[in-house]
Amino acid sequence: MSRPISAIVSVAAMRHNLARARALAPGARAWAVVKANAYGHGLAAALEGFADADGMALVEFDKAARLREAGWQRPILMLEGAFDPQDVAQARRDRLALVVHEPRQLDWLAAASPAAPIDVHLKFNSGMNRLGFDAAGLREAHARLSALPGIGSITLVTHFANSDLPGGADDAIARFERACAGLPGQRSLANSAAVLAVPDAHRDWVRPGIMLYGASPFADRSAAECGLRPAMKLASRLIAVQRLAPGDSVGYGSTFTATRPMRIGVVACGYADGYPRHAPSGTPVAVAGRRTGTVGRVSMDMLCVDLEPVPGASPGDEVELWGGGLVDIDEVAQAAGTIGYELMCALAPRVPLVVDRAGA
Ligand SMILES: *Cc1c(COP(=O)(O)O)cnc(C)c1O
Repeated sequence: MSRPISAIVSVAAMRHNLARARALAPGARAWAVVKANAYGHGLAAALEGFADADGMALVEFDKAARLREAGWQRPILMLEGAFDPQDVAQARRDRLALVVHEPRQLDWLAAASPAAPIDVHLKFNSGMNRLGFDAAGLREAHARLSALPGIGSITLVTHFANSDLPGGADDAIARFERACAGLPGQRSLANSAAVLAVPDAHRDWVRPGIMLYGASPFADRSAAECGLRPAMKLASRLIAVQRLAPGDSVGYGSTFTATRPMRIGVVACGYADGYPRHAPSGTPVAVAGRRTGTVGRVSMDMLCVDLEPVPGASPGDEVELWGGGLVDIDEVAQAAGTIGYELMCALAPRVPLVVDRAGA
């Protein structure tokens, strides 16, 4: 028997979430953001779940090649652009659109053979201060790109630092407008939070990521409230049941001590599977269809749960860590002091991804 943990990835949920993004931004085309192995869900499921997307966007060049090998014909956008001149060569070969955020990327494009045109997404720094040109640099770069042979379309793009907060994108949009005034080309601004909450940012191309996987980009609004469905169910099973007497403790460091007689379950899931080690006692989890909480420290291969709400539970019973309808990944993330994004991306390679096509 193999270890009972798996991540079940729902193609139907991914389709639903992409349709939701499209319905919110009906005038825009949609890049499905599939970086970090489709936020941990796997490119195979992404190719099926996002078959209706207008393009796929990511940062890993080897994975972009994989998408082409798998038969993806529509546009692919590299969100951090080229990291070296070889990436520009691959961009021509694999027909990849490149973000340009830095002068040396312009040099590589200028030095490359203009055999097939490369579409460029020229990035403006609207306040994140991570990637992108300032207003003067943007105009200079635009002029330089426009004069180069071998450049296809030039799209103007920016990325928001605060679109998950009310009004948090306003200043960035205003800066973007000023910087781009009069420049030709399509516009692309919106991540998931802006798709959901900032219609003014939708423009020509939206770039939803987290919402496509059924988690919320907001601290105060659940994925269900956003009309999204979880695309990943992390499930495992009880592998042991223990009885504790008052005063008995659980796990490394004995951080949880029973104050009454208790039954606890031991689950085959630990931080080496991607479950957050910082999840404290009481983090929500479901056993045999009932919600309960974790007890004690999460260890490498196991965590423990209180079986009081599930008196009949026994080894072999199913455990939902998140995403099965009883426990929201964002609840687990919040308990552990992180965000759903990180939990999805941290799913360990040893957890098998099972693509579920039911209802798709
Ligand atoms: C990751 C990323 C996105 C998607 O962000 P979400 O918050 O997951 O929707 C959009 N644009 C860029 C440039 C990104 O790097």
